[in-house]
Amino acid sequence: MLVDCHSHLWSYPGHLSDEFVAEANARSRGHALDLDIPPEKHWQAMQGVDKVIVFGLRAFHSGLYVPNEFIAGYVAAHPGKVIGFGAVDPTTDPIDETLEDIVRLGLRGVKLGPIYQNIHPTDPRMLRVYAFCQSHKLPIMIHQGTTFVRTGPLKYALPILLEDVAVEFPELRMVIAHLGHPWIAETLVLIRKHPHLYSDISALHYRPWQFYNALITAKEYGVLDKILFGSDFPFTTPEASIDGLRNINHIAEGTNLPRLTSDEIERLIYSPTLACLGLEDA
Ligand SMILES: [Zn+2]
Repeated sequence: MLVDCHSHLWSYPGHLSDEFVAEANARSRGHALDLDIPPEKHWQAMQGVDKVIVFGLRAFHSGLYVPNEFIAGYVAAHPGKVIGFGAVDPTTDPIDETLEDIVRLGLRGVKLGPIYQNIHPTDPRMLRVYAFCQSHKLPIMIHQGTTFVRTGPLKYALPILLEDVAVEFPELRMVIAHLGHPWIAETLVLIRKHPHLYSDISALHYRPWQFYNALITAKEYGVLDKILFGSDFPFTTPEASIDGLRNINHIAEGTNLPRLTSDEIERLIYSPTLACLGLEDA
């Protein structure tokens, strides 16, 4: 089964600030981004996958305000294929109420982004979110890595900061988005140690040297099976992400550099995402 574990849905204008969109475009590698993603556009882009996890983000510090109802409405229209995650901004949202809402709306996980939300990953408000998610079996997709947003504090973005969380909440299933780039080695040693920590390969293939090194390092640490397939749509697509994976050895052509086998590549594309996240019934 092909599962895209990382995709976004939001309206612009409406859910994103002008500053966020301007900064995204300024760092978009030379092409204008279309960041208005209404449900029809997301649905169209996901024709090639069997299941997709979709979320917005709530981060008032960075100008992201996607209502959980918006995600839930889309999921309700495509219940067999689309799995929705809710979002909570622990700095501004009423935490317990928002988390209860996420459950009531039938959303199956929670998206967090400390760098966007301007909060340390072990802030007491974050601990309340982890505790709720662990007890309600809600997996967390956490953006623990860098961003283009100028006001996002990098000091909150280091993957290693999640070690204390994994120790305190050992049953909490958590995906560190984008291999925690550029701190990929930190992410790999974390997911190697902690049984319920995973990562995803979304939004990495367009930096081919980093992508190649990341996955060869993951292979050497023996953690390829803890890396889930995802695109980060609308920043890229599932098709481009699959092409990027299947082309990964291109960089090693004519050299003795190590390679991924085609079996390893296909296992990354068809990663057992739902089983890893305890979402087999979704
Ligand atoms: Zn993303």
